[in-house]
Amino acid sequence: MTETKEFRRLKALAKRYARANRIAQHQALNLIAGELGFPHWTKLIAASKKGWQIATEQMAGLEAFVKRPLPAATFRNGDPETMNRRFAYLDQAEHGMIGNHAYRLQEVFHDVIIAGEGWSIRVPENPGLTPIVETFTHQEAECPVLDPEFLQTALSLARDRAVQVRAEISADWPRRSTKPDLSEVVRHPLSRSESDLWFCLHCDGKITGAQIAQNLWHCPGCGASPLDIFDTPFWSDDDGKSFLPVKTDGALDRDEPDFRIVDGRPKLDLNEEKIILLIRSALLDDATNISEKLGALQAEISVDDENGVWIVLEEDLWPEGKDPVQALAVAELLGLEVELVSSSSTIPFAWPGLGEIASSTSEYTQLMLDAYAQYGGSPDRKPKES
Ligand SMILES: [Zn+2]
Repeated sequence: MTETKEFRRLKALAKRYARANRIAQHQALNLIAGELGFPHWTKLIAASKKGWQIATEQMAGLEAFVKRPLPAATFRNGDPETMNRRFAYLDQAEHGMIGNHAYRLQEVFHDVIIAGEGWSIRVPENPGLTPIVETFTHQEAECPVLDPEFLQTALSLARDRAVQVRAEISADWPRRSTKPDLSEVVRHPLSRSESDLWFCLHCDGKITGAQIAQNLWHCPGCGASPLDIFDTPFWSDDDGKSFLPVKTDGALDRDEPDFRIVDGRPKLDLNEEKIILLIRSALLDDATNISEKLGALQAEISVDDENGVWIVLEEDLWPEGKDPVQALAVAELLGLEVELVSSSSTIPFAWPGLGEIASSTSEYTQLMLDAYAQYGGSPDRKPKES
């Protein structure tokens, strides 16, 4: 019997599925057979010999099937029914409801984020890093994510998607990168070197082949990326003898919920840069013509440790004796004392008085250009390039 195009396609799909989910090829073939209603792959072969053919829509369904992740627990149970329910659940997961609460689920730079009103959960691409649960509501206010049952549902939705994302990444890698051989030898997905022992440039950790493959080539100790993982500790003085083995708790498959809850509400950090921004904005409120606007933009503002703010205004651009009322009000709100200084330095354009008569910056620009054309000198000549 010659192999049909469809059969070759089925086998290719099984190969991709095996790679993405880090399972053996015969297991993938059996799962695919299961999807088509056969108890295992050999039954499918037998049926095809008797004339069974795969329908076009079945093939399309399979293409979608292999793109989905294989939840570890479901695989152990091997129950296709459960599997289908899980997949159907995942498919509608972009926008959905947990109880009465709406959520959206998305992937951002390989991290998975699930979020709703007042909360979000980020599951990092690196399986060794802890998901972060953020709350954005007052302590007293009701936040669904503080309900353990809700939290578990949301976390598992995000984790399932993270498994899918990681599978897509590892599907592009050599098979040996995610599946150690019998001696625990694995191949680096980028450098393609092979070893059963690896070293982290970032934390000097010693990592086994199985550990690094399971953690998708992120250091299980410090989370460093695959770029920092090497088969030789070339930076070590003693060939890595002093490096300690990295401890891992099997982050990928741990059953215990492991996450960190943080208060994600915005916190005010009034540093010098932000104070200056507010004061300058207030100076612009105080400016009544183009000249003063330029003065506000050019003002030198500094904040000192003694809760004082210095505002140095250029006398040609800001009338001496004019109080910047708004700037003073902002400083008072911030608890800052103001020291106003008038200075005389270089101004950006000649004839600052033009800015006092112009009603807009474009009008000012025209007046300024005309004045330079009429009264200004010719531009400095550039020396000829040799
Ligand atoms: Zn490390």
